[in-house]
Amino acid sequence: ERRVYVFKKGSSAGRKEMKALLGGKGANLCEMAHLGLNVPPGFTITTKVCQAFYEAGGKLPAGVWEDVLAAVKEVEEAYGAKFADPADPLLFSVRSGAAVSMPGMMDTVLNLGLNDEVVEGLAKKRGERFAFDCYRRLLDMFGDVVLGIEHEKFEEHIHAVKEENGLKLDVELTGPHLREVVRRFKGVYEKEGKSLPHDPYEQMRLAVSAVFGSWNTTRAVKYREINRIRGLLGTAVNVQSMVYGNLNDNSGTGVCFTRNPATGEKKLYGEYLQNAQGEDVVAGIRTPKDVSHMAENFAQAYEDLVYNTTLLEKHMRDMQDCEFTVQDGVLFMLQTRNGKRTGPAALQVAVDMESEGMVSKSEAVLMVEPRHLDQLLHPMFEGTGKAEYKSAVLGKGLPASPGAAVGRIVFTADEAEKWHAEGEKVILLRVETSPEDVGGMHAAEGILTARGGMTSHAAVVARGWGKPCVCGLDVLEVDYTAKTATLKGSVLREGDWLSLNGSTGEVLQGKQPVKAPELSGKLAVFMEWVDSFRKIGVYTNADTPADAAIARKNGAQGIGLVRTEHMFFATAERIAAVRRMIAAEELMEESTGAAAEALAALKEFQREDFEGIFTAMDGLPVTIRLLDPPLHEFLPHEGTAELDALCDTLAKEMSGRSGQHMSAAKAILEAAVNVSKKGVKPFPHIMVPLVGFEEELSHQIKVIRKAAEDVFKAAGSSVEYKVGTMIEVPRGALRAGDLANHAEFFSFGTNDLTQMTCGFSRDDAEAKFLPLYVREGILPADPFEELDTSGVGELIKIAVQRGRETRPGLHLGICGEHGGDPKSIEFVSTLVDYVSCSPLRVPIARLAAAQAAI
Ligand code: PEP
Ligand code: MG
Repeated sequence: ERRVYVFKKGSSAGRKEMKALLGGKGANLCEMAHLGLNVPPGFTITTKVCQAFYEAGGKLPAGVWEDVLAAVKEVEEAYGAKFADPADPLLFSVRSGAAVSMPGMMDTVLNLGLNDEVVEGLAKKRGERFAFDCYRRLLDMFGDVVLGIEHEKFEEHIHAVKEENGLKLDVELTGPHLREVVRRFKGVYEKEGKSLPHDPYEQMRLAVSAVFGSWNTTRAVKYREINRIRGLLGTAVNVQSMVYGNLNDNSGTGVCFTRNPATGEKKLYGEYLQNAQGEDVVAGIRTPKDVSHMAENFAQAYEDLVYNTTLLEKHMRDMQDCEFTVQDGVLFMLQTRNGKRTGPAALQVAVDMESEGMVSKSEAVLMVEPRHLDQLLHPMFEGTGKAEYKSAVLGKGLPASPGAAVGRIVFTADEAEKWHAEGEKVILLRVETSPEDVGGMHAAEGILTARGGMTSHAAVVARGWGKPCVCGLDVLEVDYTAKTATLKGSVLREGDWLSLNGSTGEVLQGKQPVKAPELSGKLAVFMEWVDSFRKIGVYTNADTPADAAIARKNGAQGIGLVRTEHMFFATAERIAAVRRMIAAEELMEESTGAAAEALAALKEFQREDFEGIFTAMDGLPVTIRLLDPPLHEFLPHEGTAELDALCDTLAKEMSGRSGQHMSAAKAILEAAVNVSKKGVKPFPHIMVPLVGFEEELSHQIKVIRKAAEDVFKAAGSSVEYKVGTMIEVPRGALRAGDLANHAEFFSFGTNDLTQMTCGFSRDDAEAKFLPLYVREGILPADPFEELDTSGVGELIKIAVQRGRETRPGLHLGICGEHGGDPKSIEFVSTLVDYVSCSPLRVPIARLAAAQAAI
């Protein structure tokens, strides 16, 4: 089995389809080489080697090193120079690259092969300035990545040398200055008791091991956790011959997207820095120039870049994100991958590529991820054209990731995480962000940086998450010690409210009002495509007419769950009536006295609400669940005397359900009759929760049917209705065949079904140990978020099969939280007739259901 894949212009054994083995970067480098693009020759060590590296306790497995040596030989031939040959040295970069891109999370070492002797040879051939610039970068990166010497310890010395010589920019450093920087960097090594190996192969061996090791750094693990990246073997390592963007002014390096990753506009979009190496652009340390100016500096290279990127987009059939270097006027391609994009861009690119004939409608539907839609449906600022808005604008940076963010200012990632945990909305304000900040960036509503361009770390990561971000606001002066920032005379302090418009780059003072967006224009067209592929229905969980109306606008085809007890939370008056009902002892079918009074009051409230909901969902099914124990949710949390008194009667809760059920069923059916007289078409589906035994259900259904008889008789007219049950108790799932004797439909309550199947409490497992279980890899995901397909999913399969055996036309749906989770939707899409989710997730569920069907 091949463990090392060589790539060079015009030839490679690797292909773009081999991402699991070669990582995204490696597979696409091989593909570009195969396509004949000008790629610096190199080789990729597979992710399987990474896995074996960890199995061997952090050592390269036997035989790999020999493969690496053979690959170096091949690269030397292709490049036409020898590794670390003082006369004309070939140097290498070593970079990570997993199957899923994790921007900036893992490590890179550039310019491997230099030592005190080789650097002098390189200086003779290419000049002192260049050679020592490369050497100081190697010392810095090797120190940081391989030896664990903090990058800041090196940075200090560059600042010092610049200051001593009255210089501002790195590019102003001359050969002798850089020689001095190198001398001081070596001093840092000495102070730390470390050294850079003189043997270039030893440098390479250590760097390769360090990059494999970076797969499991805290920040990489955290990034994978946040992004739910699982099931990968590890990272591949790419060892590639160096080309130099820092050779002279006829050189440079940059990144570009084939379309705008924030808006989707079809135009080459990117940035470059003249006389610089790659990390300078990505790290956001210097603010780069727009790629459209490249022709002024390197005309031929720009022409080649346009040609290559156009070709790559066509070949990959998706928007590409490319890294390149120009060495002495010649363009080299260093990387290409499908570009991370915002929700608006994803939609624009999918719709455009379909109309350009580049992809089919079904492929276009697959190009927009559920989380992209989520972003499109996020709030935007209200009245952006108005004077109030305009006068609140404090400054304008780069619109790095669109959307509206409102929160309180914090200055560190740790604070952002801390405040967020306390329920605060925060804006993370930094000079620039680094990969260590991901936790805080994720916790923040939005991110604001003073430095860095559209492809800086903050921008790339924020776009990936759809988090609003404004970058490169260079008039912002940040003082971390005082926890203040100054923006054109205004002082911003920790805790102050700030609003960011990531779509325009505007930074606004205070808490600006936001509004919900609409499904119109391109999005409406796209959603039509989505629905043409979808095979299951999408319903919503809604408890009020207002929520029902929002859901319907978002495309809901019915209500899958009205939680009647939520209707009682609406006002203090209602809660009081519920408490009176719970406290009354004689809650049987023929209620009298206090209970009857309380029930009558509740019934009034309920009937009005149901009329509103039926009207909002005119012509569509409305599934209403009868009161769901536990009723303790209604009891006061303080005042033990009252609580004690109620506790006794709570024990009678189950028997008390009949009384409430009779009353609620009447309220539902009266409401249905009332609205139908006004021309509305109601389709009530009455649902009994938490059923495990056939007799439980048959008893409740008798009560409901009796209520219907009474209501229809009294009204002198009737409506169609259905009676069904939730499947949320494991016994109910197993005995679904019995329940289907009585139920006309099932709705899977996967929240309770998960709780009772796994034995994890819904109330405290989440906070207490599930995150730890996921982090440790004991569970693949939180089963309350993503359906546990092999356990809970198995019960669903059993219930579907047994239920349909008894009643072939049984109507089936899911109304737990999983009804809005794309992965769970994929699993249930062949089992049920519909999923039901919260009103705002309806479009996401529609997309997930369509993608499951393609
Ligand atoms: C469920 O248990 O999945 C459900 C939908 O009901 P609730 O969340 O109200 O218990
Ligand atoms: Mg439940």
